[in-house]
Amino acid sequence: MTLHGRCLCGKVKVEVDDSKEPVTTALCHCTNCLSTSSGVASVVSILSEDSVKLSGTIKQYEDKTTSSGKALTRSFCSECGSPVSSVSPNFPGKVVLKYGLFGQDHAGKYPKPGVEIYCKNKNPWEPSIEGVKSLEGSF
Ligand SMILES: [Zn+2]
Ligand SMILES: [Zn+2]
Repeated sequence: MTLHGRCLCGKVKVEVDDSKEPVTTALCHCTNCLSTSSGVASVVSILSEDSVKLSGTIKQYEDKTTSSGKALTRSFCSECGSPVSSVSPNFPGKVVLKYGLFGQDHAGKYPKPGVEIYCKNKNPWEPSIEGVKSLEGSF
């Protein structure tokens, strides 16, 4: 099956071939995801590069102040600023896709995350999710 997503303005489009591997999602509570998502976590899927097709004009930001200590490249829509993806040396050959891209067309249908990372940054009022592995740091 092919999943279709897009940024807020629609100029960046993404296609995910989820027949190659199961789409697994994670919640990332690292401080830089809090900044870029303006939320309490980024919802991300870690996928093989070759199962993700991105199109549109993308702006890249070299994030050198990551919680893991390794610089990664964050991509955004150059028009509306929606977070699109990250590429990290921690995940060679993979793309960390922002699941918010699917919000416009798949709201309410996000798969349940398998893991939450950087939970040390969670607020006291954030609930834990039953059955989801919770890590203080990263994988
Ligand atoms: Zn956009
Ligand atoms: Zn993060």
